[in-house]
Amino acid sequence: MLICGREEIGEDMTLRLFNTLTRKKEEFKPIHEGEVRFYSCGPTIYDYIHIGNARSFSYWDVLSKYFKYKGFRVTHIVNITDVGHLLADADQGEDKIAKRASEKKIDPMELVENYIEAYFKAVDDLNIARPNISPRATGHIMEMIGLIETLIDKGNAYEVNGNVYFDISSFSEYNKLANRSSDEIQAQGRVDPDPNKKSQEDFTLWRKAPKEHIMKWNSPWGLGYPGWHIECSVMSNKYLGPGMFDIHAGGEDLIFPHHSCEIAQSEAGYGHKMANFWLHARFLVLSGGKKMGKSEGNAVYAHEFIEEYGGDTLRMYFSGAHYRSVLEFDTQALENSRSAVNRIYSLLDLLKSAEGGENQTLEAEIAKTRKEFEEAMDDDMNTPVALQAIMRFIRTVNNNIDNPKELLKKAEELIRELGGILGLRLERASTENKELVGGLIEMLIEQRENYRADKEWAKSDEIRDKLKELGVEIKDMKGKTIYSLTN
Ligand code: AMP
Ligand code: ZN
Repeated sequence: MLICGREEIGEDMTLRLFNTLTRKKEEFKPIHEGEVRFYSCGPTIYDYIHIGNARSFSYWDVLSKYFKYKGFRVTHIVNITDVGHLLADADQGEDKIAKRASEKKIDPMELVENYIEAYFKAVDDLNIARPNISPRATGHIMEMIGLIETLIDKGNAYEVNGNVYFDISSFSEYNKLANRSSDEIQAQGRVDPDPNKKSQEDFTLWRKAPKEHIMKWNSPWGLGYPGWHIECSVMSNKYLGPGMFDIHAGGEDLIFPHHSCEIAQSEAGYGHKMANFWLHARFLVLSGGKKMGKSEGNAVYAHEFIEEYGGDTLRMYFSGAHYRSVLEFDTQALENSRSAVNRIYSLLDLLKSAEGGENQTLEAEIAKTRKEFEEAMDDDMNTPVALQAIMRFIRTVNNNIDNPKELLKKAEELIRELGGILGLRLERASTENKELVGGLIEMLIEQRENYRADKEWAKSDEIRDKLKELGVEIKDMKGKTIYSLTN
């Protein structure tokens, strides 16, 4: 069957992805036929998400949309960290959420509630598909305690004074993902020395809660709260297991310690390989290469940029860089993305009203564009090249608007389909519509004022009545005419 220039969805499976674990591009083969089980690490909810977070989340969404395009059923889990992530990603110190909540003098869960709403709003505005499940760490404390007990029973963990640690000497593959030198490992151990640990490189599974700590739970080791890493082991296994799942993803900062610790916990505890592919997105950085982060205090919030540029511009901007290259934040590049998005909008407008003609050039162009797009995406999700294929096609269609109407329709479908995989919604943002409508109403009001100044009452009344019919009520106030929308 030919679907818009494509042979058969799901026919060609040669998607290659760079696996951090093996440090090479490998062909993706699903563990369960026709299905992709995919876990990516979500936000720590103590602030709005910044555009660096949005960059990572957008790529995992593109990957998931591309798998669906290829005919896979995708189960995508994105956790929400609402306990246990300590300042500076360290193994000791204050919990990020508890600290921010006490600064704001509200309950940590109220803080989480507010920012979860803001997170989902940003995700929706960016046209990132909601994950199948967004499990919260605090909803899985019992399962975490269960896994920690198993690790103690198996000799991979030990308890000291109400704290439980993973003994990294018990798991020989601890370094397999990060491949760190022994100097780096020792340097890590020298940060925050903890007298309870047998070895300073061991990491925390369960932490004893000080009296004043609000977020704490009963456990076999007393009142406490979980370490940051254990939630992902438990939730990925619960929703994607039992057994190994296909893909685990996150930003590059998570390779160590977070993902290395997840591997140790899951593989030692559950007794099998955790995930087949490990994907990591490089960072969005500020000019000069400085990491953007909520804890660095230099975060550029995603919602502010969505407001200013719209979701499509941001998605275009993210797709313009490969997920494994560092992207330096640059408003000029954002402006270029805005122009590119506008070029697509204008073409789609043009296609709505195009008369069509006899030229047959687009048939071959449609097939060529699809092929180029797929080849780029199959090569480790090369979104910049995939995007180039779309933008070249936009120019071609603009220059070949004299093709028959049904080919123009197919061209539009292709733009929407491929653009959609990159997260482009391709509808003019409603704020732009609002601005446009507001501007037109104000022009008519000004015209009516001119008629009134010239005492052309019939014409001025005609404008008022016509606007009323369209649901715009206008009122003449002292020296100013205001309007309101009645529907
Ligand atoms: P966090 O809320 O800090 O736990 O991060 C949520 C996700 O965003 C993780 O996968 C991080 O690796 C990723 N992330 C954090 N900062 C950046 C950044 N500046 N650029 C790209 N991804 C990031
Ligand atoms: Zn995680």
